[in-house]
Amino acid sequence: MGIFVYNFHTKQFVMRAETLAIHASNINTASTGDVITPISLSTTFLRGEDGGYPGGFSYSRANSPNRAALESVLTALEYGQDACAFSSGNTAGMSVFQALPPGSHIIAPDDMYWGLKKQLETIFASSLQVDFIDQTDLGNIEAHIKDNTRLIWIETPSNPLLKLTDIAAIAAIAKHHGALLVCDNTFASPVLQNPLNLGADMVLHSITKYIGGHSDVLGGALITADKDSEFWNAIRNIQQTGGAVATPFDCFLTIRSIKTLSYRIKGHCYNAGQLTHYLSHHPKVEAVLYPGLSSHPQHALARKQMKDFGGMFAFLLKDGEATARSVVNKTKLFIQATSLGGVESLIEHRASVEGPDTKTPAHLVRISVGLEHIDDLIEDLEQALQ
Ligand code: PLP
Repeated sequence: MGIFVYNFHTKQFVMRAETLAIHASNINTASTGDVITPISLSTTFLRGEDGGYPGGFSYSRANSPNRAALESVLTALEYGQDACAFSSGNTAGMSVFQALPPGSHIIAPDDMYWGLKKQLETIFASSLQVDFIDQTDLGNIEAHIKDNTRLIWIETPSNPLLKLTDIAAIAAIAKHHGALLVCDNTFASPVLQNPLNLGADMVLHSITKYIGGHSDVLGGALITADKDSEFWNAIRNIQQTGGAVATPFDCFLTIRSIKTLSYRIKGHCYNAGQLTHYLSHHPKVEAVLYPGLSSHPQHALARKQMKDFGGMFAFLLKDGEATARSVVNKTKLFIQATSLGGVESLIEHRASVEGPDTKTPAHLVRISVGLEHIDDLIEDLEQALQ
């Protein structure tokens, strides 16, 4: 673990994401000389005569070789000090809410990923106070800070409206008021955006999305800028004692996926750029929401804090909800399903996935662009829009 350590202050970090993604998870065992970390299914590990654990592992809920390898590469890719891998993005997020003292106040985005918003509104309704607000306005964040504000939660780009929040500016506000800043970095992936380098305290990923990349692993992770903090110790305790951990096989699959993450992201960005350009000139489309378009209200911020603009976008249909629902039923290549970040393109009528309380416009279609040939994708949308 911790093979490559980035020092944020001296800016010494020799390897780039493509190299780290391949090498930072390889734990070699002297006995067999495996080049790739093999799947270790043992739940329990040998104790030495002195009562210690010579292999570094005791019981697989507490830690395991595959989880250690995954946490190592995630730490490196987000330029952090440590990582915790969980059984899902939602259990990763829940551990943050569980680690807060009861009565804490949280500032969260008004279009926060609905599954995490639901946790705050249901599971934590009696123990935490939350304001869901528009975070594109920094003054609005300042106005909502209270004496008991312990956490500012941001998600950028957001799901499904692709709104951006200024990570560095909000990090300064959080620091000034003694609150933690946690950034859900799922849409960008660690290849396109590194919130810890912009001052955030912690990053969340739903591994299920771009990091897993093939729609076959459910997982989540938190990465911290400070492994010695009291808050991080509380998170590690929740992971190990609560036990919502990533299994060895899921860790193995995730590590395998990470090795191609940078190259997959290049393809997602290229295809999204071409498709959003095509749609923004289509007569049936009212607007396209994508941070890579100069029409996006925060395009300049996207250029500042992201390396590229990602593979997620949404578009609004001029003819309203009925047309939006018909388009998602008519595509042949785009699969009508929820989730995102896989190699296959997905399309969905988002409001009906989120349910009756949603703020998502009824004429919005969300797309997760895959890695198919761009001409096939454009042809498919062309026939669905006719
Ligand atoms: N954060 C974002 C932005 C998401 O889109 C999702 C899932 O869609 C999650 C968190 C939760 O992740 P999981 O589904 O792995 O629990």
